[in-house]
Amino acid sequence: MATETSNDAMQTPVMRQYFAAKQAHPDCLMFCRIGDFYELFYDDAIVASRELQLTLTARDREKKQPMCGVPYHAAEVYIQRLLRKGYRIALCEQMEDPKLTKKIVRREVTRVLTPGTVVDPGLGAEQSNWLASVGTKGAGAAACVGLALLDLSTGEFRAMEFAGAGAWPQLVDELGRVRPVEMLYAEGGFAALGMNKQAALRDPSAKDTASYPAQNSDVPASGPEAAFDGVRTRTPLEDWVFGADYAAPLLQRHFGVHSLDGMGLAGHDAAIGAAGALVHYLQKTMQGGLEHIDRIRFYERSGCLALDAVSVRNLELVEPLFSGESVQTTLFHTLDACCTPMGKRLLRSTLLRPASDLSEIEARLDAVAEAACDLPRREGVRRAMDGLLDLERLLGRVSLDSAGPREVMALGATLACLPRVQEAVDRLKALRWRELGCHRESADTLSTTISTGHPQDFSTESSTARLTAQPGFDALTDLHARIVATLVDEPPVTFADGGVIRVGVDGELDELRELGRSGRQALAAIEERERQRTGIGSLKVRFNSVFGYYLEVTKANSRSVPEDYERKQTLVNAERFTTPELKEYETKILTAQERSGEIERHIFAELRRELLAAASRIRETARRVAEIDLLANFAHLAALRGWVRPQAEESGALEFVAARHPVVELRMEETGGGRFVPNSLSLEAWFGGGTAQVTESTPGASSSVPGASIALITGPNMGGKSTYLRQAALLVVMAQCGCFVPAERMRLGLVDRIYTRIGASDNVARGRSTFMVEMTETAAILNTATPASLVLLDEMGRGTATYDGLSLAWATVEHLHETIGARTLFATHYHELTLLADRLLRLKNLRVTVKENATGIVFLHTVESGAASKSYGIEVARLAGLPLAVVSRAREVLKLHERAETQQVAHALEAVDARAAAPLQMTMFTPLSQRIVDRLAEMDLDGLTPREALNLLAELQRELGASA
Ligand code: ADP
Ligand code: MG
Repeated sequence: MATETSNDAMQTPVMRQYFAAKQAHPDCLMFCRIGDFYELFYDDAIVASRELQLTLTARDREKKQPMCGVPYHAAEVYIQRLLRKGYRIALCEQMEDPKLTKKIVRREVTRVLTPGTVVDPGLGAEQSNWLASVGTKGAGAAACVGLALLDLSTGEFRAMEFAGAGAWPQLVDELGRVRPVEMLYAEGGFAALGMNKQAALRDPSAKDTASYPAQNSDVPASGPEAAFDGVRTRTPLEDWVFGADYAAPLLQRHFGVHSLDGMGLAGHDAAIGAAGALVHYLQKTMQGGLEHIDRIRFYERSGCLALDAVSVRNLELVEPLFSGESVQTTLFHTLDACCTPMGKRLLRSTLLRPASDLSEIEARLDAVAEAACDLPRREGVRRAMDGLLDLERLLGRVSLDSAGPREVMALGATLACLPRVQEAVDRLKALRWRELGCHRESADTLSTTISTGHPQDFSTESSTARLTAQPGFDALTDLHARIVATLVDEPPVTFADGGVIRVGVDGELDELRELGRSGRQALAAIEERERQRTGIGSLKVRFNSVFGYYLEVTKANSRSVPEDYERKQTLVNAERFTTPELKEYETKILTAQERSGEIERHIFAELRRELLAAASRIRETARRVAEIDLLANFAHLAALRGWVRPQAEESGALEFVAARHPVVELRMEETGGGRFVPNSLSLEAWFGGGTAQVTESTPGASSSVPGASIALITGPNMGGKSTYLRQAALLVVMAQCGCFVPAERMRLGLVDRIYTRIGASDNVARGRSTFMVEMTETAAILNTATPASLVLLDEMGRGTATYDGLSLAWATVEHLHETIGARTLFATHYHELTLLADRLLRLKNLRVTVKENATGIVFLHTVESGAASKSYGIEVARLAGLPLAVVSRAREVLKLHERAETQQVAHALEAVDARAAAPLQMTMFTPLSQRIVDRLAEMDLDGLTPREALNLLAELQRELGASA
């Protein structure tokens, strides 16, 4: 590694400036502007050359000062690449024009660029660029965690809080769902939570990329503390920045309000602290451009179907299970036929937060139902949204000052579509359509609408909040008119050549343009006249930015130049002259140009200010467009794929008939992979559990024969067990989003949480063993599931020794059945578990079916009731051509095992029933240790000498050792 010593003897003034800047921003890669390059030095240079594939050079002969550089004009591309990898960058600029100073040019850090504070131009329409901020308040059991999230590209700003014992896992879940690119946190905040900061911030990828310098530590973390694994860039801030007494006034100033109560933040100091710290950080790292962040929404955690990060991942809701795989396996991809980027983003966030409020779900389903069976009106809405650009992003760009005339014109073109959208929505009658589309009397009266304090998210907003929020759809016609009246139809990209502002907008501008034009005509006339006068046919009037206007004559003709020409410059084969007349025109033209450029810029800036003043109106309309798009999209899918409306209700039912897995079915259709075999399911939550809060009897379940709450699914590998499990969860997610479902019929008592433990997911790369992960996830399920939850357990217990795994699976099923009552789907290869059906009233066995034919086994993918036949493994092996001797020997061994096992299990069950509990459970399925236990039990201790006792102990130990 290169050593950075600020008292290096070789130090030049530039390097002194560099060290000063680096000291102030030690966590940034320092881009130091030197002439036409940004140079990086020392470790920064090493990192940058590696990440950007740049050649590493050195400032000195001994090669002790590594450096590398990128050309100034191409820097943006390189900077984006580094930001995407999670680095922070400081730009150290030249503060004086090098031409104008004799001394060394002053340099200062003018901007700090970080992944969360810079909008990546390559950001996909449906992606978000979240900057997160985590603050804490209080300590111990009273601790409360505040989380603020901002997407600078759209101005979407949210806050939420988590309290109590579950605060930490909830925060981790939320971060896992949102996947921020950068996270701010209070340095001292973790102690308050009883957290080990090192562990919490452990950086899994510190060695290769990670934040710089990596906050890695060698503390191996395990369990839930490895909290922020997904967040690459973590930025610590001082604790006081997160204090509500600092944050609240800061936010009030920023939003221009007297109180934060109207934004729903009253009493939420931890959230205020987090949000304040975030704004503080933005102000510190960038100059201005925050106008479009004009409100913040406080989210209550209730009101939506909770999905933990593990489930989001396992169910592949928005991203494929393994990064880099095709996105076609995601539910998002399957459900996305949205017309606008806003709709796509809303679909994504809705999938992560499906509703749990019946009236909200019904309102969406009503709207979808109406549009699904009305092709002309549905298509009317969708066509009206065609070509609608990203309103929120355009607004963001206008605010960040990166918008030129073209962007504003694009905003104008998008605004022009809005009245058509509104008209199209107006033709639909469902309540939700009317709420979204009804006319707004006068746009002006509401131009200063302030957030109502109700959480305004699609998924959490109640319908009353929605009605009082804002009356009607604001088609923003006034803004559109302003843009069109101000800019020319096809404005140039930049202001350099003028011609951005429409004729007739500004009298002086029009006059100046006229002056410029006549001036140029006059110059042409002068050129013609002087050619005549001097007889030099090649004489030209020309312009350059250093000498202005001049007459150019070739060397050969220089003798014919008249007296009144004033020599300006001599070139190799030409001479340049000026005349008093030319000078006069030159001044006129140049001042006219300069002045008109000034006026154009001024008018444009004014327009931009007006648009930003209307930011909250634009954003509200964008929100409505997103929702309209999403519901029309659901209706479109329902009609296109023949999906049905799920019957949502307040009960414990989960019932579907002839249902299909939406993603697998579509993939099979697209690839010609055959037909998806529909399956059915019927489960009934049990609300009588010891820990259950809900006690009402569930409609549909007769008291004598309770519906099963747990389905245990067995069957051979590749039979379709995992698909069946996921299908159930996906249908629930879709239904609670307000989407129709691929089934003949579906009845759904609303689900409060979905838990999944699917497959042997391998987290070894993160330093946690598979089994540890599995048990952590299972613990989370058993500790927090309620009767209204949906639990999926797929191949639980695979990560450890057979008997361990089987025992844990067994106990888990019992607990879910006896204590929790949640609707549960349990797919397992432990055939032994099917015995549970005799003991547990509300557990039923299901199996995936297979058929044997001459060529091998055919998977029918049908789920029917009953336990699977046990010997499939051996049958498969036989069909695969294993020698018959091996097959029949395997059958014998199997028989032996089965006999032993059945005895042991019967034994164990008696023991459990006799409440001989814990120690025996451990030995339930281990014949050998059972024998030892039996011997110990029979032993007559009084009749043993110490010597005999010792010998016996040694013998037992040997026996144990031999079996291990
Ligand atoms: P298991 O978990 O029992 O090993 P999977 O659920 O992984 O089985 O399914 C194995 C294969 O069978 C997958 O390729 C899946 O696409 C296919 N499959 C599963 N269910 C069905 C079905 N109902 N109809 C058609 N193909 C199915
Ligand atoms: Mg499976």
